[in-house]
Amino acid sequence: MDNEASVRDRNADPAWQFADELGPRAIMHFHNADAGLKAILVVDNVAAGPSIGGVRMASDVSLSECFRLARAMTLKNAAAGLRHGGGKSVIFAEPKMASDRKESLIRAFANAIGDIRDYIVGPDMGTNEQCMGWVWDEIRRAVGLPREIGGIPLDEIGATGWGVAACARVAAPYCDLPLDGARVAIQGFGSVGKHAARFLNESGAVVVAASDSRACVASQDGIDVDALAAHKLSTGSVENFPGTHTMERDGIIGSACDIWIPAARPDVIHSGNVGQLNTRLIIQGANIPITGEAEEQLAQRGVLVIPDFIANAGGVICAAVEYARGTQHDAMRTIEEKITANTTEILEYAKQDDVTPRAAAMAMAERRVRDAMALRRRY
Ligand code: NAD
Repeated sequence: MDNEASVRDRNADPAWQFADELGPRAIMHFHNADAGLKAILVVDNVAAGPSIGGVRMASDVSLSECFRLARAMTLKNAAAGLRHGGGKSVIFAEPKMASDRKESLIRAFANAIGDIRDYIVGPDMGTNEQCMGWVWDEIRRAVGLPREIGGIPLDEIGATGWGVAACARVAAPYCDLPLDGARVAIQGFGSVGKHAARFLNESGAVVVAASDSRACVASQDGIDVDALAAHKLSTGSVENFPGTHTMERDGIIGSACDIWIPAARPDVIHSGNVGQLNTRLIIQGANIPITGEAEEQLAQRGVLVIPDFIANAGGVICAAVEYARGTQHDAMRTIEEKITANTTEILEYAKQDDVTPRAAAMAMAERRVRDAMALRRRY
């Protein structure tokens, strides 16, 4: 093969399509036939410090998904001002398997990445606290640990919901909305949604609708959030909660409210249903809940939308505090401080430059990554 052809051939390798000036620093494939392990790790950018990102277990994961998630962590961690870069890993396996088999797979994964000191493992879809306990036992480099070994149980304390509420407190005045008495609708009454509802309620807002994968319940008189959480725990759903009107699941989308909080699945709002939203402010608790096109339409209608990687950073901030050996109290204080400051910064920038909050947030995050890169040795 001549020289030009071999260069062309190398550039055609699918992995190079991801390369830009921010990363990725490394893409690694791991295979251990004895343990049945097939995994990929993408360490995207480590300018601010070792990368933090979850390990996702699913049978249909891919390199492309792993890279996009790693880049999202680079931007989320930089936006949050953490001393960590972004990375992500995926294990090709069906997560619902016998516990002893899952344990040996996770331990094999931990050993495979043991020497990659620029990557700290966290939980993601298909993995949990117990898995992080096994990773910690093998390589002493994991976050989202069980309480028994110094972990801060972020879903139990509502770290992400706490950040979502802090974000709403800053954003509401930007659409002339008093939080006291503001009507809130929550899509996805799970770990994020339930706690966001609870903390917003404590700030004077009234939850008027909430949904899960089975149904949506609504009451213009307001819903008792703790009683709804207890009802969901005992029955498995928000459906038929006394004193509310039960609708089909997607009834939440058209619920009249002042603040709409998606806290369920990606891409739930798209150009086909965005017209149904009847709200003034959206705080994105879930990751990528609204397509780019729908977000543009909301901006044109004057609905203020706070992007996911600013609003839902509470979980990763909590993980970083845990890694630095901080306490639960430190974590909640740091989440409030960082999300309040970042929401203010992007909304001021958006107002001044007449851009969307997402554009302002992207610019802020990329600037922080580049500033951190400028402090590193150049080769
Ligand atoms: P969860 O599983 O605890 O809760 C999700 C809830 O959404 C459940 O009640 C489920 O019934 C409901 N749901 C599922 N599909 C739905 C639909 N189509 N319509 C309405 N409700 C639906 O999950 P979680 O940890 O609360 O995470 C929710 C979202 O937030 C995910 O996108 C996750 O990636 C993102 N997120 C979570 C955290 C965290 O700290 N847990 C941090 C950042 C981002």
